[in-house]
Amino acid sequence: MNQYTRSLQKIIATGVFVTCIAILLFPLQVKAGYVAAPTSYNYLEAFPNYKVAVILVTFTDNPTKPKIYGTKNPWTKNFVTGELFSNTYSMASYFTEVSNGEVSVTGDVFDNNGSWYVIDTPATETDGDCDWTSYFGDAIAAADADIDYTQYNTIMVLSRQKLCGAEGLASHTPVPEAGNVRYGIVDINGNMGSNPHHELAHLMGLAHANSWQCDPPAVINGTNCREVEYADHYNIMGATGSRSLLLTAQQRENYGWLPPADVITVTQSKDFTIYPYQLAGVGPKVLKIPQARDANGDVTSWYYLEYRQSIGFDNVTGYIPTMQQLGVPNGVLVHMGNSTGTRFSSTILDMTPGSQRGGMDIYDPALPLGSSYSDPVAGVSFGVLARNASAMAIRVRFTGESLCEWKAPSVTAKAIKSIGKPGQELSFNVTVKHNSVLCGGRTAELRVTNLPKGWAATVNKKKSATAVIVSGQTQTFVVRLTSPKKTKYQKFTATVEARMVKKPTLKSTAKLTSLIRR
Ligand SMILES: [Zn+2]
Repeated sequence: MNQYTRSLQKIIATGVFVTCIAILLFPLQVKAGYVAAPTSYNYLEAFPNYKVAVILVTFTDNPTKPKIYGTKNPWTKNFVTGELFSNTYSMASYFTEVSNGEVSVTGDVFDNNGSWYVIDTPATETDGDCDWTSYFGDAIAAADADIDYTQYNTIMVLSRQKLCGAEGLASHTPVPEAGNVRYGIVDINGNMGSNPHHELAHLMGLAHANSWQCDPPAVINGTNCREVEYADHYNIMGATGSRSLLLTAQQRENYGWLPPADVITVTQSKDFTIYPYQLAGVGPKVLKIPQARDANGDVTSWYYLEYRQSIGFDNVTGYIPTMQQLGVPNGVLVHMGNSTGTRFSSTILDMTPGSQRGGMDIYDPALPLGSSYSDPVAGVSFGVLARNASAMAIRVRFTGESLCEWKAPSVTAKAIKSIGKPGQELSFNVTVKHNSVLCGGRTAELRVTNLPKGWAATVNKKKSATAVIVSGQTQTFVVRLTSPKKTKYQKFTATVEARMVKKPTLKSTAKLTSLIRR
């Protein structure tokens, strides 16, 4: 078990996963297809300008306030205002960034002059009856004297209540104090983190961010494949704990929140450069590759590739594991889904199936540098050619074309023992690097050439040796040289040659220098 596996287990054990109940009974049409709702349902009309009245409540039978995470200090009006509206990384600035300025979230926090509003709803659910209606109704009524509800279109009730065990809930409720118009309403229970963002995104029509997982080594088209709710750990609509990680390209494109220049729709084999997903105006950030087609050949589902770096909202490291520990910034995240239609749920794919045990396998989903993925049903392959902090190069090839680009291996020698008496065995570590790009594991051979007269040589105790080396990786061999028992006291040079067995003209050499002395 490595360090981040332990961290994950700790997170699971302490239960900081978002659990939430979203009571969304309407098919929300977004952006271009947005359908005006009946006037009695203004929670639909709130999109995209959310004016939020935040009500802080405690209970007649329990006055305890939620604590600021990692401290013994209770939430205050200032703390809540910062988290939701005014901090650099507030819920409001999250939606400004993720929507490219299309969504605005403003609001006010009402705390009854610091004493919070006290309601008669039981503080702890005892009868299994999740009475959200009276909870919300009591909170709305308790704050009525201080809030002109007609100035808002959304309500958030914050408490330490855990009705039905949920950390949050998104729903809608009639507000008698505003003519019984239905408002979008969110409940946040004890944990702040990304919960308010998550629940507000539900009000916007987003479903949970899931994973599509098959038994390894399959990624999509395997046996025993299933969709796992919440299992996108790089998306606030999945299980991100406190981390307010960005929505994915698929979700943002559905809402018209990605500038067209940010997305490259791939139609032919080519090498592409994409830039960190969190940066604006630097160039294209998303590759969109056909994943499935209907009988007419029209694309019905896409792969969405994102280069996620630890920047901005994606750099929230309050909870481990961080993205770095999970290798996400070293690779490309791949989601699958529609760019149009009613499917708002985003589905992440595990590009390293079998890398972790059980349910933890999906925590490191990125396709790493130097690795490739092939979908024979879709007739497409892609792989990560190169990356640095500011850009990533990705190769895409369609049916019949290989991603593999052959290159000669490189070879370097380091003496273990290069000085000896006549007849004594000398030895060297010889390291071969597989330089081909996106060729996967290929066989390289190492042999000794140009041996001085009368000398004997072995590679890994054989005449020559082979090893399967993954593109970009190295393998070290041990070369042993033995001089004749009668040898001049002088320097001798032998040569080792490494070549790719399938492309034997691709080869390179290194010199092994020995000194024979008394
Ligand atoms: Zn939810």
